Amino acid sequence: MTPGSIEIAGIDVGSVTLSEDEVEALVSGTGGRLLRPGDEGWDEAVLIWNAMAAKQPAVILQPTSADEVASAVRFAAEHRLLLSVKGGGHNIAGTSMAPGGVTLDMSRMREVTVDLDARQVHVGAGCKLGEVDAETQKHGLAAVLGFVSETGVAGLTLGGGFGYLTRRYGWTVDALDEVEIVTADGQVRRASRDENADLFWALRGGGGNFGVVTRFTFELFDVGPMVTGGLIAWGAERVDDVLAAYRTLTESAPRELTAVLTIRLAPPAPFLPTEWHGRPIVGVVVCHTGTDAPADLTVLRDLGSPIVDLIVEKPYAAQQAMLDATQPKGMNYYWKTEFIPRISEEFLASFKAGALKVTSPMSQSIMFHLAGALNERSRDDGAMGNRDAGYVTGFAGSWPPADPRGGEHVAWVRESWSAIRSFSTGNYVNFQVADDDPTRTAEAYGRNFERLQRVKAAYDPDNLFRVNRNVVPAG
Ligand SMILES: Cc1cc2nc3c(=O)[nH]c(=O)nc-3n(C[C@H](O)[C@H](O)[C@H](O)COP(=O)(O)OP(=O)(O)OC[C@H]3O[C@@H](n4cnc5c(N)ncnc54)[C@H](O)[C@@H]3O)c2cc1C
Repeated sequence: MTPGSIEIAGIDVGSVTLSEDEVEALVSGTGGRLLRPGDEGWDEAVLIWNAMAAKQPAVILQPTSADEVASAVRFAAEHRLLLSVKGGGHNIAGTSMAPGGVTLDMSRMREVTVDLDARQVHVGAGCKLGEVDAETQKHGLAAVLGFVSETGVAGLTLGGGFGYLTRRYGWTVDALDEVEIVTADGQVRRASRDENADLFWALRGGGGNFGVVTRFTFELFDVGPMVTGGLIAWGAERVDDVLAAYRTLTESAPRELTAVLTIRLAPPAPFLPTEWHGRPIVGVVVCHTGTDAPADLTVLRDLGSPIVDLIVEKPYAAQQAMLDATQPKGMNYYWKTEFIPRISEEFLASFKAGALKVTSPMSQSIMFHLAGALNERSRDDGAMGNRDAGYVTGFAGSWPPADPRGGEHVAWVRESWSAIRSFSTGNYVNFQVADDDPTRTAEAYGRNFERLQRVKAAYDPDNLFRVNRNVVPAG
């Protein structure tokens, strides 16, 4: 490499050598910022949630407008550079980083504007979930977002999205009204149900395959600002009782109530009695956004003798952030999950057997109740599909990078997951790990996959946007 040049990974062309001036020209005279390894801000920009999936791009661009994104996309397309987009950096497969290539880090586009008349929120593509909840909750409103406030809005939404409001209002993308997007030809477009409708269909679940979204517009719903939520947990000797109660609860719960079951070793958290730290527990995290929480929770509370019952009235925004501390950035994470339509005795037996063999104190086995509005929406409304999902369930391995037993933790996840796969009706593209092969991506979309490939061929025929769970263009 000659002095004053930068070597950047290309698409199908090895690496591309560009002059510093060429690359600098991308941001000069604009508000955008160009980062190289060692620059101030580089370490934060390359930091992603899953240490196991960490990669280094050659350069990072931090744009501040759709026009700057458009210039960068045209530049990457012209030079055939490997290009990725970072929203919140939470993708477990680490797809926000282009190894050796160019990463567009959207963290400087974080404007959130609530339109009370339209009951909508406009969200910059670099926002974290908590930043949106903070603004909408000032008005007792909320978008359908996930349940860890540090997660990026962009990746979560483009993969479909779910959270505590999904039982009431469907997938996150069911309440997505419009996006502003830069497509592979470098054009800034809008997509909605009325404009570029084919593109909008694909964006509701098809991930980062179709361009760089610069702004999302979501429908808002009346939520909170106070809700009833928190954790109730028992020692694992009660696991059969709790699993049975969870099944009864979720089969009869109103849509205002979402319950998430977790089996894990008790973390050394101050809210858990010290004598339980490190011992197996089974807990249920609930979020009730209606008015009759005490009555709706009797199935759980009638079990009696929990280790802790931390279910209280609290702000919805606090509920949305209550699990943040359990998911720190920079650990190793390896998940395998499936959508299942219902809970059967056979499923519970397989789930429990895997869960109780957990190998790491940070890992957990989960069931997240989803059934409700998403099952009722038109089956043609968006690429997310999976309209027969009742729960998302699986095994979430987590351990510090220095833990020498990493292979054992991965094996626990894979073996436990293998035993529940036969109950699956599909998988969630946003929970796929780096070693999931392309057939799993196709499976995630089911009958929508071929249509996604056709839309991809129309908007990104050269597959510029390929650092993702990739949909290869048709033909
Ligand atoms: C702790 C944790 C909790 C989670 N909880 C939930 C949950 O409650 N509900 C849920 O549905 N999912 C949840 N997820 C999964 C989450 O939706 C995905 O990990 C998602 O990819 C994260 O989005 P991000 O923007 O942070 O990701 P990033 O890693 O930044 O990006 C992931 C991919 O999204 C695409 N992308 C990002 N920004 C853009 C953009 N502006 N334009 C085009 N494409 C873009 C790119 O393809 C990129 O590779 C959770 C994940 C974690 C780690």
